[in-house]
Amino acid sequence: MAPGIPPFTTPMKKYQKRDFKEDSSSRRLENMSTRIAIHPSHSVVPESDNSDDSSAGNYFDFCSQLKKEVDDIFHSSLNSVVKKSCKCKNRFFLLATSDDAFFKKTHVFLESEGHVSVQPSDFFKREIRSSPLLIIVRNVDIAKHIFEVPHLLELRKSPHVQFAGIDEPEDVVNLTYQELFITGGFVMFDREAIESISSDNINKVWGILKTLCKTGKWKWVLHYRDSRCLKENARLCPKAREKEYLLNKCKEEGLLDILSYHECDLMTRQEPNYLQCLCHQQVQNISARYPVFVSDLKTDCRFEKNGIMTMTVDSFLMGLISKTTNRFV
Ligand SMILES: [Zn+2]
Ligand SMILES: [Zn+2]
Ligand SMILES: [Zn+2]
Repeated sequence: MAPGIPPFTTPMKKYQKRDFKEDSSSRRLENMSTRIAIHPSHSVVPESDNSDDSSAGNYFDFCSQLKKEVDDIFHSSLNSVVKKSCKCKNRFFLLATSDDAFFKKTHVFLESEGHVSVQPSDFFKREIRSSPLLIIVRNVDIAKHIFEVPHLLELRKSPHVQFAGIDEPEDVVNLTYQELFITGGFVMFDREAIESISSDNINKVWGILKTLCKTGKWKWVLHYRDSRCLKENARLCPKAREKEYLLNKCKEEGLLDILSYHECDLMTRQEPNYLQCLCHQQVQNISARYPVFVSDLKTDCRFEKNGIMTMTVDSFLMGLISKTTNRFV
């Protein structure tokens, strides 16, 4: 498992606004790095052996004072950058799911702050394609409605598109929103693709995931029932044994997750409802940018409409990296 990459199945934690703010701002504002670099001074260790209580107290006062100043500088500069950027064309699209006054209020507030509302038909207009576009969804709408965002898959692929979950109309301007679909993704093979995959190709998938993980958290997810099937086959046939061995290696590296038992695994069921399952997985892993479904059967267009990338086994092995890394180059 790559260092610093937490397990993929960690339940979506209730975000802490402040954490998020510092997180996303540091990503956005590279020019602030010189100021952030002051932080290592926190680790200066006082000569505590011969220091009495008051000097230790001074040290800690100094440290917290420094921290406060750094944070103040950081946040006031950040705010001014954000305010400045509000004056230029920052495009947004707010997913309104009802007549609730919340949406009108948010829309009006964003426009009063200089942001420009755009219609889905203008998302990819050539002349403005390179200006940032923020797709805003109310947090309570995520589970039920996030897949209704028009052109969701194309939006994910655009490096200039960010997704924000909000609780309050002011969350975007105050940078207290939750960032959604940030980086990385997860890959689900259908049952046939998993049953027929060769050891060589498992190695290839492994390599692809390792490469992708350099730019974000990527995982291969496997249904419980499929993993049981592979285990049973491994007892009977050496080829299946090799596959199982490789999959276990992937699991040890944190690149493969066996999903916990759910309705897709019922023996009474012919096959999983992959669309529903992938949408559910996406909501559970809301920071993942790409859900990928790999199947050699013809997948219906509802997958793409719901923002899910679909690929055949071959196209996955040949091209996933080029299809998803545009955000990072
Ligand atoms: Zn600090
Ligand atoms: Zn308007
Ligand atoms: Zn499932």
